[in-house]
Amino acid sequence: MPDTHWERMEYLKSLGFKVNPSNRLCKNIGEVEGYHREWEEKRESLPYDADGIVAKVNSIEMQDRLGFVAHEPRWAVAYKFRAIQATTILKDIGINVGRTGSLNPYAILEPVFVGGVTIKQAALHNEDDIRRKDIRIGDKVIVQRAGEVIPEVVGPVVSKRTGNEMMFSMPSRCPACGAEVIKTEAMHRCTNAACPAQALEKLKHFVSRGAMDIDGVGERLCAALFEGGLVHDAGDLYHLTREQMLERLERMADKSVSNVLASIEKSKQRPLARVIFALGMLHVGGETADLLASRFSSLDSLANASQEELLSIPSIGPKIAESIAAFFRQEGNQNIIRKLKKAGVRLSEAESPKRGDTPLAGQEFVLTGRLESLTRQDAEARVKQLGGVAGSSVTRKTTYVVAGADPGSKLDRARTLGITVLSEDEFLKLMGKETQA
Ligand SMILES: [Zn+2]
Repeated sequence: MPDTHWERMEYLKSLGFKVNPSNRLCKNIGEVEGYHREWEEKRESLPYDADGIVAKVNSIEMQDRLGFVAHEPRWAVAYKFRAIQATTILKDIGINVGRTGSLNPYAILEPVFVGGVTIKQAALHNEDDIRRKDIRIGDKVIVQRAGEVIPEVVGPVVSKRTGNEMMFSMPSRCPACGAEVIKTEAMHRCTNAACPAQALEKLKHFVSRGAMDIDGVGERLCAALFEGGLVHDAGDLYHLTREQMLERLERMADKSVSNVLASIEKSKQRPLARVIFALGMLHVGGETADLLASRFSSLDSLANASQEELLSIPSIGPKIAESIAAFFRQEGNQNIIRKLKKAGVRLSEAESPKRGDTPLAGQEFVLTGRLESLTRQDAEARVKQLGGVAGSSVTRKTTYVVAGADPGSKLDRARTLGITVLSEDEFLKLMGKETQA
């Protein structure tokens, strides 16, 4: 192999490989600068988008000595071109509702030719950004395009104002569904879990692990149910029928329909905390859901909680409290909850022990292996509900080790220490007895 980059390129070319015809061997940094300037002017003549050039050290021996910083070679440096700018009229500001409910403003422009393409729309980041740049509807604006990134509005040409320009403010209602919008940090969001723009994402979250954990209902089935019009929101899941699914989901076999319906049925018994998390209220993650479930014994009492009550819970601030209230104000969300209720989804901690009624108090359970009829999280939740402790390692203080299928070394340790080992059935019986008592 030749020992310079340039000669290697020439060699590859002689073998029939395609080598960029615009490559140039520059003798010094001045020539590199000239090359950069030249292509900054000529870039629109290229049959592809280019946002800069790359200068490489020619000597391979020198390249080796220069080496890398992480993955970045010290012997190859990109020099970007200036972004290409143009001015045009901002005709209006449109709003896009993202899949997570965020309201994203974008510029609707008088079409303008920038860097080889005609653009009609450009990014505007959020309301604060529009305010900061003082961009008004009707303004003459500078738009720019850098490489392949989405064109953006840089700012207004204030000297061209006629006085007819209009200030912009974000709508207080979601353009996709009309529901109430709340602002958190710089972002405006729709508060409706049934909003058509975000319904599919909400549904995927609802069935996911850590939420309702509905086995067999993955992202693809969610999309098929949604697109087939069988499910508009999480509430509809519980009203699916076998006939509907066989008829409308062509590729689904009888057996898998049965499995899906069975896991949907099973999910009706998930603890309240999971339901709260699954509903996908803004700012309410798993931990907050746990906290809310332990404070309010049902979804109804959470819905009826006053701001004062919510704020009295440690670690719940005004942002979360407001988001919870906004969630329950939405008719769309109420409708989902009605569907869940009607289907018999558990929306309260019915089995929650009264204060002092903690039959497993002082007992520690350690789970090992796979349980067949419930998830490990659910098993641990039931232990905690009854006042017990779910431990992670077997010690002399462990009361019971619950061994499922393929138990690990915890089982050996339990035997060594002489700790009572329960099978899954024995564990369920114990839980059942205590729950009834
Ligand atoms: Zn909406």
